[in-house]
Amino acid sequence: MNRFAKTSHESRHQVSRTDRKLTASHAIVIGGSVAGLCAAAALAKNFGKVTVLERDALPGPVPRRGVPQSHHTHALLGRGQEIMEQLFPGAFEALLEDGASVSDFGKDFRWYHHGSWRVRGRLGIDSWMVSRPLLESHLRDSLTARGNVVLRHECPVDAPIHDEAGGRVKGVRLRDGSVLEADLVVDALGRGSKSPKWLAEWGYGEVEEHRVEIGMTYVSGLFDVADAGYPDDGLMLYPQAPDNHRGGIALRVEGGRMMVTLFGYHGDRAPMDHAGFVEWSKTLPELQLHRLLARSRLIGELRQHTMPYQQRRGYAGMRMPAGYVVMGDALCSFDPSFGQGMTTAAMQAELLVQLRPGQRTARMQRRIARVTDVPWLLTSTDASCWPENHDEVSTGATVLQRYLKRVFELASHDLEVYRTLSEVMHFMNPVSHLFRPRVLWGVLFGQRNSGRRQMRSGPSELAVAPELSGVRRTGY
Ligand SMILES: Cc1cc2nc3c(=O)[nH]c(=O)nc-3n(C[C@H](O)[C@H](O)[C@H](O)COP(=O)(O)OP(=O)(O)OC[C@H]3O[C@@H](n4cnc5c(N)ncnc54)[C@H](O)[C@@H]3O)c2cc1C
Repeated sequence: MNRFAKTSHESRHQVSRTDRKLTASHAIVIGGSVAGLCAAAALAKNFGKVTVLERDALPGPVPRRGVPQSHHTHALLGRGQEIMEQLFPGAFEALLEDGASVSDFGKDFRWYHHGSWRVRGRLGIDSWMVSRPLLESHLRDSLTARGNVVLRHECPVDAPIHDEAGGRVKGVRLRDGSVLEADLVVDALGRGSKSPKWLAEWGYGEVEEHRVEIGMTYVSGLFDVADAGYPDDGLMLYPQAPDNHRGGIALRVEGGRMMVTLFGYHGDRAPMDHAGFVEWSKTLPELQLHRLLARSRLIGELRQHTMPYQQRRGYAGMRMPAGYVVMGDALCSFDPSFGQGMTTAAMQAELLVQLRPGQRTARMQRRIARVTDVPWLLTSTDASCWPENHDEVSTGATVLQRYLKRVFELASHDLEVYRTLSEVMHFMNPVSHLFRPRVLWGVLFGQRNSGRRQMRSGPSELAVAPELSGVRRTGY
């Protein structure tokens, strides 16, 4: 046998051994919400088998106990949608068939932030108009159509199993006492994850936890808007800090309805009765959302969700057991009004696609944690506008906050700046794009808005890109 043949034979042997190992490899994802589904779809590429373990029953596209935020507005950012389209073949086509629709973020949304409206114009950033339960159910359907993924519902996990001698996690114990072995376990358990407790019990020490107080309460309802004559698909009204703590979001969803959220920061909250809810909307910085609510019919009841603080856990900076990764809200959860959670989870899952059975997970955990840097920076910087947070605000955050405020102002009349800003906020481009010459020049030398002038503007006062200048006048 010549040397080449021998090498070739050996490598064939090697490949088939590797193949067998991959086929036998097993990854477990605990938690079957958006982060868990994204993780499972990503791991299915390299692991022979992926099992998702979810505590809830999964009856279909309806809100469920383990994801109480399903009752509230959920926006999917551009980058999240791009990644999910790759991870979940067919899911977005199926969503369209089920009544979801796609809008242009610049043309079909109104966005009021830092005391001014963004200019209206086509940005080429798709926004999916769909309720959270319908989105999740189609991601699930696409995932379970894969041959090597099993989704077990009504299957609560008690805890992962730690092998002290090997310094690794080797599986999970279910609440019914049974044990499942795995090469990799992913914690996608959301904010309530017990990883800090488990890691301490296994001897890895305390997880550092960073919090930014927001004292936020969402109150949301689903509205029949058939008679409201509302011309757009989305409306986002952010409070005018520091005096007004109140904001609102309205997003069109399947079935000709709109999901509407009124939110307050630092203890301010909308009432839970319908009349009080509509009345409260008069106190937002602008009146469009109030007009919409006054012409719409509430379907079902209003729901409330409170989030006292944003939180980020420092798994990247500590010793971790091999074969264990924490992601999604279990790792970091943000001010929900920025709509970052699902997209951040998808961006983390995009990294998991590269993880092969047996590879070191500590490095992967660090890379996954880095994904949260920019969303955390953006939301924490925004939070620094509140007097309630001033004690914890660094000089850097104050400078960045002023800079961003100027970028928002510029984006009220300059469509190119608005495009740059939106692409960063949708994680389609890095934050460094906000410091490109056109934006930087505008921030330093551009026209300044007086916030007052833009307060309580009627629709005719909104800046509109030339191609939309024939926009309908509808009383909004
Ligand atoms: C009010 C609100 C509004 C939001 N709005 C947006 C938005 O507009 N856009 C956006 O992108 N994000 C938004 N988010 C964030 C988004 O909902 C989350 O980032 C997203 O759901 C991903 O979270 P996750 O999968 O990590 O955790 P979760 O969604 O919290 O899911 C955790 C899962 O673990 C399961 N589980 C719990 N315990 C066990 C157990 N013992 N065994 C097995 N399974 C278990 C639960 O049933 C659940 O399915 C919002 C959040 C809130 C609170």
